[in-house]
Amino acid sequence: MLIGAIEAGGTKFICGVGTENGEILHSTSIPTTEPEETLARVFAFFAPFQIKVLGVGSFGPIELDQTNVSYGNITTTPKEKWLHFPLLRTLQAHFGVPIALDTDVNAAALGELTWGIAKGLDSCIYMTVGTGIGVGAVIEGKLLHGMSHPEMGHILVRRQKDDYFEGVCPFHRDCLEGMASGPAIEKRWGTKGSELQNKDEVWELQANYIAQALVNYALILAPKRMVLGGGVMKQAQLFPLVRNKFNAYMSGYITNLYINDLDTYIVPPGLGDFAGLQGALALAVRKLMNTDEVHI
Ligand code: ADP
Ligand code: ZN
Repeated sequence: MLIGAIEAGGTKFICGVGTENGEILHSTSIPTTEPEETLARVFAFFAPFQIKVLGVGSFGPIELDQTNVSYGNITTTPKEKWLHFPLLRTLQAHFGVPIALDTDVNAAALGELTWGIAKGLDSCIYMTVGTGIGVGAVIEGKLLHGMSHPEMGHILVRRQKDDYFEGVCPFHRDCLEGMASGPAIEKRWGTKGSELQNKDEVWELQANYIAQALVNYALILAPKRMVLGGGVMKQAQLFPLVRNKFNAYMSGYITNLYINDLDTYIVPPGLGDFAGLQGALALAVRKLMNTDEVHI
């Protein structure tokens, strides 16, 4: 049986068809332009395949309250063409198969829990540090939702003493995303992060903000593992720095077999760049097995 998966990102849509075991058989990447053009290319990719169910991990914010009339719409995105776009309805009208929809990061968290580095656990978070910062969570085996999906990229962080950067978040300026996303690095230092590899102060500062965020997530959600992906986390030297600062901020307050070994607690994605796509596949598999009552 063929299962469809879409990681609908603000930069690119990654589409795939795969199996219930998480195997991706075919995939493609489509640049995100305006909705009609992007989706026409998405539909063209899926045309040769008879998919039974579709999983979608989408950029957001998206409305995930099934009782809301705008369920499945993109909501307050700064991408004008996608503002209020009825993503789910458009996909339903085209495919006519059951569709499971969640955020890209919730999907990635589920993917890592099902087939990746958090396999065998019943909780984890997935954080992406890229064009934006987003965090998804599976807690007690369920994807985390409340009045909406959580927006853990926009939490408030304690500013480092000598840091006067104003921040780039259009809503909050110096929230976590405003201080530590890829565009924040580029604006603060005048060069893309990928060209700053050897500048220690860049990564010390970066690790400070990420570690603060992780401490808050650990204190609030108590996930059994934290998976960190996205373009900025390609700087592998960040991992030891983040772990050290996490340890310092936590100050031994929580001890258990998960958090005591930070090398296995704060980790890169097991599924690499496919966490989002395989996560979308995992969403679809849950839908197929009728275990998607996660909104209740
Ligand atoms: P998106 O978040 O748009 O899906 P990415 O996760 O690739 O895509 O994030 C893109 C951001 O990450 C950009 O701001 C880019 O400058 C930054 N980035 C990409 N690769 C690297 C790298 N190797 N080192 C540091 N920053 C990077
Ligand atoms: Zn913000």
